[in-house]
Amino acid sequence: NIHLCNFCLLSICPCTVTIICLLPYRERVQHDFDVDGGLDLDIFDINEEAGLNLIEGDIVLDETQTRNSIIGDEYRWPTTVPYYMEDDLEINAKGVILKAFEQYRLKTCIDFKPWSGEENYISIFKGSGCFSSVGNRRVGKQRLSIGTNCDRIATIEHEFLHALGFWHEQSRSDRDDYVQIMWDRISEVICFCKLSLHIRNYICTILYYIYIFCLKMTCFMNWRSGYFMHFGTGTASPGDTAVLESRLVYPKRGYQCLQFFYYNSAGPGDTLKIHVREYDEDNPSGKLRFIQTIDGSPQDLWQLHHVTLDVRKKFRVVFEGTKVGPGPAAGGLSLDDINLSETTCPEFVWRVKNFSHVMDSTPNNTPVFSPPFTSKEGYTFQMALYPNGRDGYPGELSAYAHLVAREGDAGQTWPCPWKQITMMLMDQHPHIQKRMSNQRSVTTDPNMKAADSDLFFWDDPRKVGAEVTEPDGSRYFRGPGAGTPVYLTHLRAKSRDFIKGGDAIFLGSTQDKTTLALASSLSVLGAMLLITVVSVLCIKNKYKKRVANTGIALENANAN
Ligand SMILES: [Zn+2]
Repeated sequence: NIHLCNFCLLSICPCTVTIICLLPYRERVQHDFDVDGGLDLDIFDINEEAGLNLIEGDIVLDETQTRNSIIGDEYRWPTTVPYYMEDDLEINAKGVILKAFEQYRLKTCIDFKPWSGEENYISIFKGSGCFSSVGNRRVGKQRLSIGTNCDRIATIEHEFLHALGFWHEQSRSDRDDYVQIMWDRISEVICFCKLSLHIRNYICTILYYIYIFCLKMTCFMNWRSGYFMHFGTGTASPGDTAVLESRLVYPKRGYQCLQFFYYNSAGPGDTLKIHVREYDEDNPSGKLRFIQTIDGSPQDLWQLHHVTLDVRKKFRVVFEGTKVGPGPAAGGLSLDDINLSETTCPEFVWRVKNFSHVMDSTPNNTPVFSPPFTSKEGYTFQMALYPNGRDGYPGELSAYAHLVAREGDAGQTWPCPWKQITMMLMDQHPHIQKRMSNQRSVTTDPNMKAADSDLFFWDDPRKVGAEVTEPDGSRYFRGPGAGTPVYLTHLRAKSRDFIKGGDAIFLGSTQDKTTLALASSLSVLGAMLLITVVSVLCIKNKYKKRVANTGIALENANAN
């Protein structure tokens, strides 16, 4: 698939003789793709550009609606909110919406389910901008727009908060108890009016209900933070074990991700094993099931580990450290920041050491690349990080996802179809619910063409990419990158717990979105069939009408 041309063209015209020498070259995609046109657009920028005139930038109010009308049970959704994704949504947006729902599940106990005929539901569509109504308006199909460039997880979570009944923080009735607004410094008149006490009560009520609901359900599992377990192997004898068991956990989904930091200063043969203790009628005191041994040779750092679990019964997680051989006199196995959540684990962990220094000392427009990682479907990806931004974006982190292929790779379909790649900078707060990790996703659209080229952007990197030789001599082809120059500002990257112990941790994961893409094309097909059926009916009725002069007037058929 490599197009090599090595020949000379000699063209003679009456006045000049031109020799054009074409050196060996490969057809390749020259430019990376900026998912948002290289702009850091927030909700308000997007909506302003779209010419929308909404309350506080992104809130839809109907004419009869006043701010006070939000109070009341009638504006509440059930704790499981039905949603429907309309066909015009971008595939990447659909994937990010599902990720946003996961964050709600992790942090709030509010759940979402696909609409199956419930009276009221949220219908997500691709409008011109990102906006929502506030609360359940009881209009049946209540639309929420996720337009172009709104496909960021934070934006989607924001719009859904409105749909659930929340106003902007700056409109809280107790706002002025905490901040002083310098009204004379505001050039444009934007109404960030405070809301009445009633609304404040309403929000408190929602929070109260969420809280009570959470108390009733085990929606999230975490059993410690602020302490760590240490199994000192230095003084132990070979064969000695230490065990740490979690409290009881009641799974709802059948898959879990166990995440923890592990410091291994023990002997090279000493092991840490993960088990689950499952309880059922036959095993009222639990039955131990081995999951995996953590391999991680002794290192002078806290290593982040993820273990995928698949438990459906009531269970506990069991950590078991074993002293195997004679090791050093000091040292041991330590565990910290253990979090168990009902999510899928990331597939890839990339630690960048001394990250503040890397940000400060890397020249602008200079990438560092993660090691390539291969997803479960057999595609290999690589993340390019520009620690001091791409050209024109100093002081930012820029992040791009690239496809990678090695000579001899086989079995993949090209161009790569509908894989959503998520690049997450992990907030390393000990408690998973208090993290606000930074993430952006891109989806490989097999039909997307590269700019100024006939090549497919996500085609085989051996065809559209460039060959790379690593310092260790390994060679592979790297395709063009898709991502954003405005992934995160340095200021923000140095806040929260994005950097801990000096290091930043990037998590990568890929998910197949073929079903979402297929669902879209199937509904289009369905709509086409419906139109065909309706047309047939129309013709039939027209015909009937003409013959009998009576007929049934067809209502406007809604292909949706
Ligand atoms: Zn808003």
